[in-house]
Amino acid sequence: MTESPHASGASFRVGHGYDLHRLDRRPPLGAGKPFILGGVRIPADRGPVAHSDGDVLLHAVTDAILGALAFPDIGQLFPDTDAAHADADSGTFLAEAVRRAAAAGWRVVNLDATVILEGVKIAPVKEAVRARLASMVGVPEARVNVKGKSHERVDAVGEGRAVEAHAVVLMERVPDGH
Ligand SMILES: [Zn+2]
Repeated sequence: MTESPHASGASFRVGHGYDLHRLDRRPPLGAGKPFILGGVRIPADRGPVAHSDGDVLLHAVTDAILGALAFPDIGQLFPDTDAAHADADSGTFLAEAVRRAAAAGWRVVNLDATVILEGVKIAPVKEAVRARLASMVGVPEARVNVKGKSHERVDAVGEGRAVEAHAVVLMERVPDGH
């Protein structure tokens, strides 16, 4: 049986999102783009290789919201074969996920995310990223958490050749009349 997110039923839905981008040195040494995480620019000698702006955190959060409601995922909605999304600001992907959720009667309750990254500290931008994410998904900053983890120098992520992000989001049905 398929139940649309519009149907009556549970008042809460949980969603998970995951993303990875290869990192490369910035031009002319490599093809890495400016390192943008959660909509905030991070000073780094490396950056993501991507069709869009490569914001791994926004991609994971977007997929968590879409996933909670069993909507098509980010790759289906914004294919990287579409020239329209070249160098796209990933904030537009997240805004579209939030818009689709609202249209179906859902809003974000809280958001927890983990970024796994070696050699680039996210601590200096953590609060800015939380504030940006909170504003994008429409919740107070206290309901958004972002954690940075290293990969203990193991595997591609640990060698600084890739960045990963996980996001978990709780959605609630918007009460009638709101
Ligand atoms: Zn991505």
